[in-house]
Amino acid sequence: MDIAGLKFAVVGAGVGGLAAALALRKRGANVVVLEQAPAIAEIGAGLQVSENGIKVLRALDVVSDIPKLGQRSYGTVVRDYRNGRFISRIPSPAAGPTYYYHRADLIDLLQRAALDGHVEIKLNSCVKAVEDTSEQVEVRLENGQTLGVNCLIAADGGRSVIRPMLNGEEILGFTNQVAWRATIPWDRQLKAPKAHLTIGPGRHVVTYPLRDQSLLNIVAIEERSDWQEEGWRLQGDANELRDRFSDFGGKVREVLQDVQQTYLWALFLRPVARKWQNGRIALLGDAAHPTLPFMAQGACLALEDALVLARSFDHATLEESLSAYERARFARARHVVDAAAANARNFHLRGPMRLAAQMVLTAMGPRLGRRYDWIYAFDATA
Ligand SMILES: Cc1cc2nc3c(=O)[nH]c(=O)nc-3n(C[C@H](O)[C@H](O)[C@H](O)COP(=O)(O)OP(=O)(O)OC[C@H]3O[C@@H](n4cnc5c(N)ncnc54)[C@H](O)[C@@H]3O)c2cc1C
Repeated sequence: MDIAGLKFAVVGAGVGGLAAALALRKRGANVVVLEQAPAIAEIGAGLQVSENGIKVLRALDVVSDIPKLGQRSYGTVVRDYRNGRFISRIPSPAAGPTYYYHRADLIDLLQRAALDGHVEIKLNSCVKAVEDTSEQVEVRLENGQTLGVNCLIAADGGRSVIRPMLNGEEILGFTNQVAWRATIPWDRQLKAPKAHLTIGPGRHVVTYPLRDQSLLNIVAIEERSDWQEEGWRLQGDANELRDRFSDFGGKVREVLQDVQQTYLWALFLRPVARKWQNGRIALLGDAAHPTLPFMAQGACLALEDALVLARSFDHATLEESLSAYERARFARARHVVDAAAANARNFHLRGPMRLAAQMVLTAMGPRLGRRYDWIYAFDATA
């Protein structure tokens, strides 16, 4: 079908929403992005974008062959928590290198491309309710404004207000895991920068460089049940972070000393949505499939969704197109979400299981990376 001139509203100006807006606009749709925040300002933190996500960014002309602002990764080194002992090295995926992005830089690239493509972005536009009449979708904003569109894409994140319209109320499961995030100044010029994954009982720490190695991104995950809030802006206490990881030695101990400001995010598990669309409204990104960060794939999946969504309008009607999008994405999203959940268990093993897993990693590390080729080799542009 020809979507040129049709009105689309995309709710949420995260990675998924901006990419979807851009992809739909490239097919000629009139697109407005509704974002609740007063400004598109990301908290400083890193994001790994693997080849499956980079392919989408290239297809949308957001990055060129050598992705700008991204820091090329040369694989991951796995270490033990006590003294940072080397366990294994997992090489870059065969599909192509991963790039480390500062979230703000990636959002900025997407936003600029969307604005250059004449996508309208409305800030201070919190969507309160959505009504699907037989004629159109009516969107009501918290500030009292309403607008009518032909199709609505809900890219409003893991706490989507639109997902319950299609799936009813769902119970969120707390994973008993909390992610601490921080960036610290870093001044290295390593020829082949890598991520470091340091694993200990019930906890792990991932570090990787950003912005030409001028910053180091730190994500420290711990099992605990006394903090259950989600959000990019919830601040934590740097001293508490150091205390909670005080038995980590080696480089982790050193880099935690330099943390001044840190943020906390409680990790909840929601299933992949049963229903992604109703013929006029569709879910995208975390709104459809919130993903634990243990495969670093949530934003990459949202990018894949965006491209597949826009391409599904090759079908004859809106209903057929959104249904084709759902069919194309459901199994892929569930497969990746399950792989991330399995890693949560693998990283945090205790006692003899942990030692056994480390031996396997040492013996098979380079080959273990190949287990996930199916994730990175996925080509949403094909
Ligand atoms: C600690 C951590 C590390 C991660 N690391 C990686 C990684 O390395 N690689 C990777 O690929 N993924 C990673 N992820 C996952 C990734 O961050 C998410 O999957 C991704 O941000 C989802 O994008 P999205 O656009 O679907 O949703 P979001 O980024 O959540 O964006 C949703 C947007 O919608 C807006 N919004 C919400 N409700 C409304 C409303 N009612 N009206 C208007 N606007 C609204 C919000 O303000 C927000 O701007 C990580 C996640 C965490 C927690």
